[in-house]
Amino acid sequence: MASTTTSTTWDKSKPYFPVAGLADDGWSTDDEATASCFCGAVQLSFPTHGPGFVGSFICNCSDCHKLTASIHASNFTVLDTHLKHLRGQENLKTFAQSKTIFFKEPGKENTMTNYFCSTCGSLMYRVGAAFPGMSILRLGSVDDFTLMETKLRPTMEQYTKDRVSWKAPTEGTTQFVEDGLHGLV
Ligand SMILES: [Zn+2]
Ligand SMILES: [Zn+2]
Repeated sequence: MASTTTSTTWDKSKPYFPVAGLADDGWSTDDEATASCFCGAVQLSFPTHGPGFVGSFICNCSDCHKLTASIHASNFTVLDTHLKHLRGQENLKTFAQSKTIFFKEPGKENTMTNYFCSTCGSLMYRVGAAFPGMSILRLGSVDDFTLMETKLRPTMEQYTKDRVSWKAPTEGTTQFVEDGLHGLV
C-alpha cells in the first residue's frame, strides 16, 4: 500500500549526498555548497545564505513547464558576484530567447539565457536581462539533498495561474498568481 506520509526518511540534521549523478565530490559547509550536472563535468559553488544567496522559489509558468520537461521548476537565485565555477565552465553551452519570458517591462530587454552542460544537457542556471546581477540556479542540481529541506527550502511560489490542478500549493510558500520574484529581490 502506498505511503501517505510526506516526510522523508533521511536525517535532516546532517548533509545527505545520495548517488544522483556521476559526480561524487559534492560538498556543503555552513556557508557554501556545490551544484553539479548529471555527468559531473560541471560543478558550481554558491552561498547558502545572504548576502549572496537571494532566495528559493517554485515557478509554474509555461516556460518553466516546457524547459524542465516537468510541470514546474524549483529554482534559487544567487548574486553573480558570489557564484563560483569550480570546473567545467568551458563545457557550458548557451541558448537564449525572449518569446516565452513573461516578465516584461515596457521598452526593456527580457531575453533569458540558459547555461547547460554540453555533455549531459543538465541546465545549470539561467541569466535574465530582467534579473540583472544574478543567476537562477536549479534546486535539483544541488549535491547535498538536506539543503532542499533546510536553507534552500522554497519560500515563494509563482505563476500559480498556470499550476496543474492536481498539484497543491507548495507548503510554507507565499503564493503569487504571476511574478513574485521581483518582490523577493
Ligand atoms: Zn554534464
Ligand atoms: Zn517560470
